[in-house]
Amino acid sequence: MAALNGAVENGQPDKKVPQLPRPLRSLEVKYTKIFINNEWHESTSGKKFPTYNPSTLEKICDIEEGDKPDVDNAVEAAKAAFQRGSPWRQMDAPSRGRLLHKLADLLERDRVTLATLETMDTGKPFLQAYFIDLEGCIKTLRYYAGWADKIQGRTIPVDENFVCFTRHEPMGVCGAITPWNFPLLMLVWKMAPALCCGNTLVIKPAEQTPLTSLYIGSLIKEVGFPPGVVNIVPGYGPTAGAAISTHDNIDKIAFTGSTKVGKLIKEAASKSNLKRVTLELGGKNPCIVCADADLDLAVECAHQGVFFNQGQCCTAASRVFVEEQIYPEFVKRSVEFAKKRLVGDPFDARTEQGPQIDQEQFDKILELIESGKKEGAKLECGGLAIEDRGLFIKPTVFSEVTDNMRIAKEEIFGPVQPIMKFKSIEEVIRRANSTEYGLTAAVFTKNLDRALTLASALQSGTVWINCYNALYAQAPFGGFKMSGNGRELGEYALAEYTEVKTVTIKLSQKSP
Ligand code: NAP
Ligand code: MG
Repeated sequence: MAALNGAVENGQPDKKVPQLPRPLRSLEVKYTKIFINNEWHESTSGKKFPTYNPSTLEKICDIEEGDKPDVDNAVEAAKAAFQRGSPWRQMDAPSRGRLLHKLADLLERDRVTLATLETMDTGKPFLQAYFIDLEGCIKTLRYYAGWADKIQGRTIPVDENFVCFTRHEPMGVCGAITPWNFPLLMLVWKMAPALCCGNTLVIKPAEQTPLTSLYIGSLIKEVGFPPGVVNIVPGYGPTAGAAISTHDNIDKIAFTGSTKVGKLIKEAASKSNLKRVTLELGGKNPCIVCADADLDLAVECAHQGVFFNQGQCCTAASRVFVEEQIYPEFVKRSVEFAKKRLVGDPFDARTEQGPQIDQEQFDKILELIESGKKEGAKLECGGLAIEDRGLFIKPTVFSEVTDNMRIAKEEIFGPVQPIMKFKSIEEVIRRANSTEYGLTAAVFTKNLDRALTLASALQSGTVWINCYNALYAQAPFGGFKMSGNGRELGEYALAEYTEVKTVTIKLSQKSP
């Protein structure tokens, strides 16, 4: 661990080991209000709601609670900022790109503050917030900064007396409703392409984790985005969230969260103004380990794949299918990994796993663990909360899991690894695909033919071969089936934030 902390070996500082970033130990939370028109507002109702630190269960602070009237004000500001002739609409595309680059610069400047806030509010290990969440935010902002002046339509050959071309125009006011598992990253996945295409935004962060989104408000103002381009309304889903999804002046909505709420949002869109909807929902992602796989690699990737972020990932490797010849060895090594996983204070550099986000999620995970025990899965390790420690759960591995068990069917969103056995490739394809979800899949094999057969047969938006959670700002991400609609990231996301307009011009000169 000395190396990890960049600290002292045999009493001598090790000059070769770079210092790791350290969290801020005392941090005053400055931004707790509703952000509209680059100004901070109290809620119309006068109500506030608390946000808690899930590792200590202490209240961090109270946040102004936005509701429909506040969403209305935010939408009005976003609509005005989008009007023809407004500073935002008049801004040329390279300047939009420069603002996004400047925002990325400020995230780099304030990276420790933002990672500290994210750890306080979510309980995720600080180094993961710093190196994964913040890294992803900065790269995504820079990627879309580069796109701002490269969004082009086409010229289309039609009748010879006509000229026909397309314009890719911004949609207008975009709503963004974000979850608590990657609060800042999921916000940036929506905000960066929306702004790069010239839209304006009304954002509702998850009620459990509003702090980093509100901090972004202060950076938006500092960067110099015109007032009204980005508005942030913290509050609850059924009130502030529903006000966004039903709003007639919101033209598009991007959501990450549960399938249940995703359905509500689509329904609200269809009952209001048919706003465009992109949804990134859950997953019950298969991770297939063939007998010829590099076993060290497969065990470690499957472990990180399911336990990363306390298991609270839509990409979680929560159905591990292992070919029968290597099943006992795979289970044995997976249990060794799980038992070694360090659970504790997320501000400690050694910690790999922090607490679950809240009591509701904690109870749901323990209930699913109980169902696994009752339905006959073999509990190899964990299976309990850590005593007297609030919301911490022991890394849990189940073997002898069968497809009909709840732990093999339902999204657990916690540190629980169900391991199943398979005999043939055709069988595992059928079983992997027999779910309503289709977000990600992973395959471990050294055989190219098997890898490519599985890559084409698996019904999911992403297939990782011999790797896990390999996500890039340039590569699209999204789900098949009930894992969602549309794609975030990459060039594909631009289509989700633009309308295509066809312009056809008749030439007065007839060809001879
Ligand atoms: P959720 O309810 O889907 O929350 C996601 C976002 O939607 C939050 O901002 C939430 O507001 C908002 N919301 C809730 N009800 C709404 C409504 N009627 N209209 C508009 N917006 C609404 O997720 P959760 O309850 O926090 O977690 C439940 C389960 O969802 C988890 O166990 C997990 O299975 C799944 N989940 C998936 C992801 C993912 O990355 N795909 C992320 C988080 C959770 P509030 O803050 O008030 O809830
Ligand atoms: Mg909190």
